[in-house]
Amino acid sequence: MFDTLLIANRGEIALRILRAARDLGLRTVAVHSQADANLRHVALADQRLCIGPAAAAQSYLNVPRILQAAELTGADAIHPGYGFLAESADFASAVEDAGLVFVGPESASIRLMGDKVSAKQAMFEAGVPCVPGSPGALPQDPDQILGLGEACGYPLIVKASGGGGGRGMRIVREPQLLLEAVAMTREEAGRAFGNPEVYLEKFLEHPRHIEIQVLADRFGNAVWLGERDCSMQRRHQKIIEESPAPGIAREAIAAIGARCVDACKAIAYRGVGTFEFLYEDGQFYFIEMNTRVQVEHPVTELVTGVDIVREQLLVALGHPLTLRQDDIRLRGHAIECRINAEDPVSFSPTPGKVSRWIAPAGPGIRIDTHLYDGYSVPPYYDSLVAKFLAHGDTREQAIVRMRGALSEATLAGISSTIALHQRLMDEPGFVASGFDIHHLERFLAQAPHPDREE
Ligand code: ADP
Repeated sequence: MFDTLLIANRGEIALRILRAARDLGLRTVAVHSQADANLRHVALADQRLCIGPAAAAQSYLNVPRILQAAELTGADAIHPGYGFLAESADFASAVEDAGLVFVGPESASIRLMGDKVSAKQAMFEAGVPCVPGSPGALPQDPDQILGLGEACGYPLIVKASGGGGGRGMRIVREPQLLLEAVAMTREEAGRAFGNPEVYLEKFLEHPRHIEIQVLADRFGNAVWLGERDCSMQRRHQKIIEESPAPGIAREAIAAIGARCVDACKAIAYRGVGTFEFLYEDGQFYFIEMNTRVQVEHPVTELVTGVDIVREQLLVALGHPLTLRQDDIRLRGHAIECRINAEDPVSFSPTPGKVSRWIAPAGPGIRIDTHLYDGYSVPPYYDSLVAKFLAHGDTREQAIVRMRGALSEATLAGISSTIALHQRLMDEPGFVASGFDIHHLERFLAQAPHPDREE
């Protein structure tokens, strides 16, 4: 179906995709901004093309430029990675219309899951448990809104249909504050997402974030590849992910995994995807589906032994899945620490030149990164520079190995969050496991950084 893959992304994921493509004997094309000519995957690709200035809007988000690059280089498929255009239904359909293969689901699936109201409706119909709330978007009538608020119960959360990246949400604890919150969220959502539609959901106070990885082909076959616990978050951004999720019964996870597979079949989903759930008091509640490969996919690769990006490309190439659900077993425990070019205390970005980088290694250690000695981290993009992964027979062994990897890493010239992860690997709440999504923010509020204490 295709033999040349254009990688419409940058950084570690572009390199990850390049390696999977190379393993399958595909030719690769790297497109990059003027700020990214020195990226590792740009050097390794069979062909490279600069598509615009540093600003993402003019390069990595510039659809006409990317399509033009595909034409110029003879690429017949485009992998969007994560972020940028990965969840743009318009981009996926533009790629389809140009007669190219979009490495992802059909644009219609992206559109369906990209709107929170339609996604929730589709999941509800497919038997996936959802957070209780208003049935669909809110009406205009204030009395009806108040009635729906009462039915939902307080505290509740007002969410924008078109929201994403943790934006477009407002918690409401008392009925008298509801109408104002609805009006404000509508106004903001209209401006930010071009869609003022909002809905209500019960606000869960202490949930964990548990997600299910799925893989589906175009012939109606689908499997789930275990779960990930991504509860360690700051401002809704994941910092640490692990698999399996500690302390949750395997039967409960298998039941929700089976529901996700049913849902893939119900919406004719194709490719890799992730069903995200909040988990509280033994119940799973669907919040959203990501219709792309995720940053934390290697956690699942370590425990299942499945090369997720390879499978994603094989499905896009039109191959039927060869994996059967019974073949998928989780072995041991894996943890990922996201290393960002950020100050470990203030979290402000720390772009600049990496004067020295020595990657950790050893049994059970995997490092996904585009770093090398002398590489300059540009200030224009996401600050993720490396993912440290540790795999062990047990969670304890994975933690021990992660501590070793973090202590062995040398990353000089820029500040990074390595020091934060070193603290977290020893933090009693993390070590005990089973913490909720507010754990990290509580920890950061209570425990100033040891180096900066008076
Ligand atoms: P986004 O698309 O912006 O990431 P999500 O619907 O995935 O939005 O929600 C992002 C985060 O907001 C969740 O990970 C969780 O921390 C919080 N959240 C969302 N819905 C609820 C809810 N009903 N109760 C409690 N927290 C929620």
